[in-house]
Amino acid sequence: MIADAADAKAVRDALVRSSDGLFHVDWVRSRADGLLRLDGRGTSNVAAVLADLDLPDSSGLDTFAQLHGAAPQIPILILTDPQHEAVARVALRQGAHDYFLKGHRDDYLLAKALRTIIERHEFAAMLYEEQDRARAALDAIGDAVISTDLDNRVTYLNAVAEKMTGWKRSEASGHKVEEVFQVVDSMTGEQVREAMELAMRDQATTALNPQLNGATHEAAPFEDSAVPIHNRQGEVTGAVMVFRDMGNSRTLSNRMLYLAQHDPLTDLPNRVLLHDRLNHAISLAHRRRKQMAVLFLDVDRFKHINDSLGHVLGDRLLQSVAQRLLSCVRRSDTVCRQGGDEFVILLSEITQAQDAAVSAEKMLQALAAPHQIDSHELRVTGSIGIGVYPDDGTDTDTLLKHADFAMYHAKDQGRNNYQFFEPDLNVRALERQVLESGLRHAIDSHELVLYYQPKVALESGAIVGAEAFLRWRHPERGLILPVQFVPIAEVCGSIVPIGRWVLREACRQAMAWQAIGIGPLRVAINVSPPELRDRDFVHWVRMILNETGLDPSDLEIELREAVLMQDAQFALEVLNSLKAVGVQLALDDFGTGYSSLSHLKRFPIDILKIDQTFVSELHTDSSTNSIVNAVIGMGKNLGMQVVAEGVESREQLTCLQELACPQGQGFYLSEPLTAAEFTRLCRRKESQAAVSMV
Ligand code: C2E
Ligand code: MG
Ligand code: MG
Repeated sequence: MIADAADAKAVRDALVRSSDGLFHVDWVRSRADGLLRLDGRGTSNVAAVLADLDLPDSSGLDTFAQLHGAAPQIPILILTDPQHEAVARVALRQGAHDYFLKGHRDDYLLAKALRTIIERHEFAAMLYEEQDRARAALDAIGDAVISTDLDNRVTYLNAVAEKMTGWKRSEASGHKVEEVFQVVDSMTGEQVREAMELAMRDQATTALNPQLNGATHEAAPFEDSAVPIHNRQGEVTGAVMVFRDMGNSRTLSNRMLYLAQHDPLTDLPNRVLLHDRLNHAISLAHRRRKQMAVLFLDVDRFKHINDSLGHVLGDRLLQSVAQRLLSCVRRSDTVCRQGGDEFVILLSEITQAQDAAVSAEKMLQALAAPHQIDSHELRVTGSIGIGVYPDDGTDTDTLLKHADFAMYHAKDQGRNNYQFFEPDLNVRALERQVLESGLRHAIDSHELVLYYQPKVALESGAIVGAEAFLRWRHPERGLILPVQFVPIAEVCGSIVPIGRWVLREACRQAMAWQAIGIGPLRVAINVSPPELRDRDFVHWVRMILNETGLDPSDLEIELREAVLMQDAQFALEVLNSLKAVGVQLALDDFGTGYSSLSHLKRFPIDILKIDQTFVSELHTDSSTNSIVNAVIGMGKNLGMQVVAEGVESREQLTCLQELACPQGQGFYLSEPLTAAEFTRLCRRKESQAAVSMV
C-alpha cells in the first residue's frame, strides 16, 4: 500500500528478487483499495501488509488503525517519512510489527524483515492451532493431566483434572501444586510432595501408586506418572503429571484396567498389580534404606472345605479370609489374592524382620476365629512363609519365590504357623520341585511299584494278608521310599491319581494271586487324608472293585488316626460309605495320635494296628507290655482284629504271642517284597505246610 509509483516498484522488485518468487506482491495505492483487498479475497490469504501511512485517502495513525482494525491478525510493516517517525512509533505500540523510514530504506533489509514477519506469523498461527488441538485432545481423554513449572506451580489442568481436584484451570494456575491436590502414596500413606520434583530431578518418568486427596475425591486410589518437560535446549522447564482415577473408574478403559488388576471374588489386587506394587515397594525400600517383607499365606486344607461344602461356601470363606487379612494390615500395605487359596501380603516398610513375624502372628489369629457363613461356623488356619527384602531377595521374583518356599516349610511344620525363609530351604525346595515334576509322569512312565508285606497269624505263622507299600523306581535315583515323596504328592495333589493307581494295582494283584490258588489273602492299601477327602474316593473304590472283580471284603483300607481327628464328622460319613461298599477298615499307627478307644467306638473300624514304637519297646519296657496288653484286650472287646506292626525280633514275637496278639507284621516275619517274591514266599510256605502234614 504505497502511493508513490517509484517507491512501489522498487519495493516490489526487491521483494520478488529476495524471495525467490515466494512472495506474491499486490500493490494498491489507497486505503480504500487496501481495505477492499483485505476483505475481498479473505484475510487469510494476505500474509503481511507493507503500508505507507500517507495515502491519498488517509494519513498517519488513522491509516494504521483502519488496517489493523480490519485484519488484526495480519502483521503490518510501516513505511514512513523520517519526519513522521514518532507516528510510526505510536503505531508500533498499537500493534504494528516494525517500521522503515523512506529514504533510509535498504530494499534487501526490507524484504528480509517482511519475510521474517511472515514466517513468524505463520509459525505462531500453526502453534496456536497445534495448542488448540492439543488442548482439545487433553480435554477429551479420560486421564487427568496437570503440568507445573520449575517452581512446582500449576501451569495447566485439563478438564478431567479440573473435575477431580475441584479447581478451575484459571484458579489453579500459579498455585503450588500441593495446594491444588495432594498425592498420598498408597504404599506408605505419606504425601508425595516430590512426585513432580523427582521427575524433574531424575529427568525420567516416575511411576507412582498414589491416592488422591482432592476436593471432590476423598482418598480415591489412582495411578499416575510424572514426566519432565524439556525446552528446545533440552533444559527441564517443568513437569506433567498424568493420573487415572481408579476408584471412580469412569471410563471403560479404566474399568478394564481395574478388572485386569483385581481379583473379582475378593476385589483384592491380583498378581499383576502385586508385581507392580512389589516393584514399587522394593525401589522405595531401596531408596530409603529400609526393609520390607512379603508374606505368602496359604489357607490350610481349603480344598477339603471346598470339596465338602461346595464352591459357593468356599468362595464366601475366601472373601471372609480376605477381610480378616485386610483388618490386620496398615493402609499402606497390600493384601493380594495370588489365586486359589493363596494370598500375598506386602508389608511395605518394616524396621526389623521381627515386625513381619508380629503381623504374621496377628493374621494367624485373625484367621483362626470362626467364620460365620450362613448357618455354618467354619474354622480355618493358615500357613505363612516370610521373605524379607533385602536379605531374602532384592527382586520381585526371588522374594516371592523364597516366601513361597518358607510357606511350604510352615506346612511341613504342621501348618497353622509362620516361617521365615532360610537359605537351605532353597535346596529342599529344589528337591521338592524335582520330585513334584517327576511325580506327574511317574504313573504313565510305569515308575511306581507296589511291595507287599505279609500279615501273619501269630499263632499258626500262616500268611493271612498283604499290606501294599508304594515305591517309586526313579530312573536316576533308584528306589525312593514313600516318606520322601508321599508328603509332596499330598501337598501338590498328585496323591489322588497315585492313590487310584495303588488301589487298582493292589486289587489286580489280589485277583492274580487268587487265580493261581494263593490265599485267600486280604490286601491292605494305605490311604492319605487328601485321598479320603476326595469327593470321588468311595465311587472309585466301588468302581475298581467292580472292574477287577475283587470281593470287597478282601480289600482293607488303612487310615491314620490323624484323619479321624481332623474332621470327625466328615470322616464318619466317608467311613460309613466305605463300610456300605463292604471293605474292611484299619486304623494304622494306633497309639501315635491322641484318640482314645472310647473315641474310636464311634467309627466303624475293623482292625487296629498297634504302632511299631510300642512293639519295639515290648521286651525292654514292662509298662509297654501292659499298654499293649490293654490295647489288645480292648480292641477284642470292641470286636476289632488287632495287628502288631514292626515286629523285628524273636523276643518281640514271643512277647506278642504271650499277649495273645492275633496278627503281626514286621521285618522279622518278612520284609516288604515284590509281587513275584511274595508269590514265591507263599509257595514255599505251602510246600512246607504240605511237608509237615505228610
Ligand atoms: P505304614 O502304613 O505304617 O507302613 C509301615 C512302614 O513300616 C512301611 O514303610 C514298612 O516298610 C515299614 N516296616 C515294615 N516292617 C517294619 C519293621 O519291622 N521295622 C521297621 N522299622 N519298619 C517296618 P514304608 O513302606 O516306607 O511306608 C511308610 C508309610 O508311607 C506307611 O506307613 C504309609 O503310611 C505310607 N505309605 C506307604 N505306601 C503308601 C501308599 O501306597 N499310599 C499312601 N497314601 N501312603 C503309603
Ligand atoms: Mg499301613
Ligand atoms: Mg503303620
